[in-house]
Amino acid sequence: MPPLDGPAPASASPWPAEDWRRELARAVTDLEELLSLVALSADRVDAIRETDFALRAPRPYIARMRLGDPDDPLLRQVLPSAQESASVGGYGMDPLRESSAVVDAGLLRKYQGRVLLIAAGACAVNCRYCFRRHFPYTEHRQDSNFPALEAIRGDSTIREVILSGGDPLMLKDSHFAALVRRIGEIDHVRRVRIHTRLPVVIPQRVTAALIDVLASLRQQVVIVLHFNHGNELDRDCIRALAALGRFTLLNQSVLLRGVNDDADALVELSERLFAAGILPYYLHMPDAVAGTAHFDVSEAEAKALHRRMAARLPGYLMPRLVRETPGKPAKEMLDSLSNFI
Ligand code: SF4
Repeated sequence: MPPLDGPAPASASPWPAEDWRRELARAVTDLEELLSLVALSADRVDAIRETDFALRAPRPYIARMRLGDPDDPLLRQVLPSAQESASVGGYGMDPLRESSAVVDAGLLRKYQGRVLLIAAGACAVNCRYCFRRHFPYTEHRQDSNFPALEAIRGDSTIREVILSGGDPLMLKDSHFAALVRRIGEIDHVRRVRIHTRLPVVIPQRVTAALIDVLASLRQQVVIVLHFNHGNELDRDCIRALAALGRFTLLNQSVLLRGVNDDADALVELSERLFAAGILPYYLHMPDAVAGTAHFDVSEAEAKALHRRMAARLPGYLMPRLVRETPGKPAKEMLDSLSNFI
């Protein structure tokens, strides 16, 4: 992996407010253009043009891919593969049975004390392994009044609101500010958690206005980022993370065949995350979503990898190896740290 040397990053957002919207609009959606940007010809990859889950990759993310390498771990995350059309038993449209967790349009409740608000129905990047690639976002669309907030206001057992999607940071700053301010007015909510991949793929999303609105919240703010490979952490990402440094920053990765199913890659990812101020939190087993079977890693392989990581990392840099099973009261931990002793 390329070294990250040079001056320490600044702690304020270095980007003008509209840069990220420009990058969003310039995202690559055409296969030939993507291949040309990474210096590959179509005969070197197993890519497909026709897919119901479109290719979408922002240019700041593409810029971190290795040229001429069909096995680049970042390219694999965004390149539509011919293997996606394979029909594999046990893989379905809603493997986590999220449809049964819906309590209101745009609101899911899976675990005690927490609700998940579908704040936006799109992302800056289309990750091929996405567990919500078949999610019916149109049924959960929120208007600018966010009607789902009324259900949160009416339930005093809710301690934490998780903003998810799609990616909640796809909302414009003014819209996002209106949403979090309204959550801020709900007395019983203690924490606002934001699940986002935008600072990974377009670091310019971390604007001064975004930081200001989060800093103004009465509640604690937890930002859960989604890095899967150390090569995703470039200098602009590190700047963005430094600008978010006053909040609790956690990372959740998905264990993906051909991307990060390798102890060296996972160890380096944890090291780079911590150097950038993020704690590695979860290493998720991939979910059984139709079109993603080629990313699967078996549970035995995952545990073996996790133990190889544990032999090389301090405990605080070890993400928990977890699987989400529908209907369980919490995520299932597959490998207890006590197994490593
Ligand atoms: S950013 Fe998250 S929700 Fe969006 S496509 Fe990627 S994995 Fe799915």
